[in-house]
Amino acid sequence: MNKNKNGVWTSWNDNISSNYESLYKITSEQELQEIVKKSEKIRVFGNKQSSADIASGVATLVDMRTYNQVIHFNESAKTITVQSGIILGDLLEIIESKDWCIPCLPDINTITIGGALATGTHGTSGKLLSEYVINFRMVLADGAIKTITEKDNLINAVRVSLGALGVLSEITFQCEPLYTLHIKEGPEDDTLWLPKIKERLQNHDFLRILWLPHTDKGYVIIGDKIDSNTAIKEDLGPSYLKHRRTASKILYKYSHVFPWITAIANKLLYKGFFSTIKEHKGSLYQSTVTKSRGSTLELAEWTIGLDLFPQVFEELKTEINKWSNKSFIHIPMDIRFVYKDKSWLSYAYQKDIVTMGCVSRNAATADTYEAFKSIEKIFLKHGGKPHWAKRFKAKDKQLSLVYAKWEDFKLLRTKFDPTNKFMNPYLEKLFNIKR
Ligand SMILES: Cc1cc2nc3c(=O)[nH]c(=O)nc-3n(C[C@H](O)[C@H](O)[C@H](O)COP(=O)(O)OP(=O)(O)OC[C@H]3O[C@@H](n4cnc5c(N)ncnc54)[C@H](O)[C@@H]3O)c2cc1C
Repeated sequence: MNKNKNGVWTSWNDNISSNYESLYKITSEQELQEIVKKSEKIRVFGNKQSSADIASGVATLVDMRTYNQVIHFNESAKTITVQSGIILGDLLEIIESKDWCIPCLPDINTITIGGALATGTHGTSGKLLSEYVINFRMVLADGAIKTITEKDNLINAVRVSLGALGVLSEITFQCEPLYTLHIKEGPEDDTLWLPKIKERLQNHDFLRILWLPHTDKGYVIIGDKIDSNTAIKEDLGPSYLKHRRTASKILYKYSHVFPWITAIANKLLYKGFFSTIKEHKGSLYQSTVTKSRGSTLELAEWTIGLDLFPQVFEELKTEINKWSNKSFIHIPMDIRFVYKDKSWLSYAYQKDIVTMGCVSRNAATADTYEAFKSIEKIFLKHGGKPHWAKRFKAKDKQLSLVYAKWEDFKLLRTKFDPTNKFMNPYLEKLFNIKR
């Protein structure tokens, strides 16, 4: 076990930092148990890619990224058991080499499995990543191990639990046979894509819309499962498309000073990078997940019931198009779809939902980005839920109104962690824990 003393922890985009007394790097479950048992206050972290202040801020920290081995495969059942610090991309390469897949993936491959599961990470046209887990081993506040399987009701509390019930140790995923997607992408007017959402979800295997604020357009990505040998007319568009994020960064450089620049920048970005049609094929991972990002960013994301989405979308659009409003929003707002589940703190608890991302390409000036405030106001008003890993201001009072199981989760948390060992200052406010 490796230990650092008295340092500063910093998130990937430098927006969050805090002092720590001890920072451990672990490689075994036993080490994790010992540290949890002896610590008064502890948080563990993965790749530090969350925008919410949930991964640090206490005396003892554990870097989970060195706890990253594959433990076991079951070839006939298509299951894989891994240590929770494994990076998602590494896990997916291993799974694909066996011709297996996880059928719903986020658009990032550098996060750890532990961080992804704890915060309700999701993709589109499927379920949260944590819904594909059939077995969790968790280190409890007293250092003991608890195994939670699909047979335990407790699994519905553990699947999305913010590291507040314990530390996820070994995770078993149920995989499915690998498949090939035929992807077609292209721009559409808002008046076209918005009314077609339900029909497209029924008729296609993959649907994602990159909404382009201030242009009246969405960039629609549709995928259908095909035989891997099916010939398609591959067209990846001009090679300069790969410079989209760099161009965005340059065009938005002064948008925190003059927010209206965003409306002009978006029109230019639409013309340059989102007006062509593309066609390609590949696995879900290879054809839809971004593998590298040239720069950091800051994120918020809100979710709302599928039926309410068109109304909320129109309200948001009207609000941000007002020139009196400073909420000019950077491209794109990522619109994705998650099917209902039973997990207490899932955004999709008992209903199909739409998720809508909101990005600031200038991470350093994110505090002045009015769009984060506007999206929160509108989604909360309609009963929307924020992504646990991203930027939002709502706390206990508002969350208790949108999560049917909020109070049950709080009660369970107090049983599992009576001394609030796993709470940092941000989570204490979130759960309204009085010191
Ligand atoms: C560019 C970018 C793209 C993204 N795309 C998506 C997306 O498509 N869909 C989506 O839903 N989200 C997305 N996210 C959010 C991302 O999935 C979460 O922020 C995720 O938590 C990051 O994982 P991490 O390893 O960096 O975790 P960290 O940020 O290090 O930790 C997150 C939380 O998990 C806890 N934690 C970490 N490991 C464990 C463990 N073993 N046991 C218990 N708790 C643990 C930490 O204490 C912390 O509270 C994106 C983020 C970025 C920056």
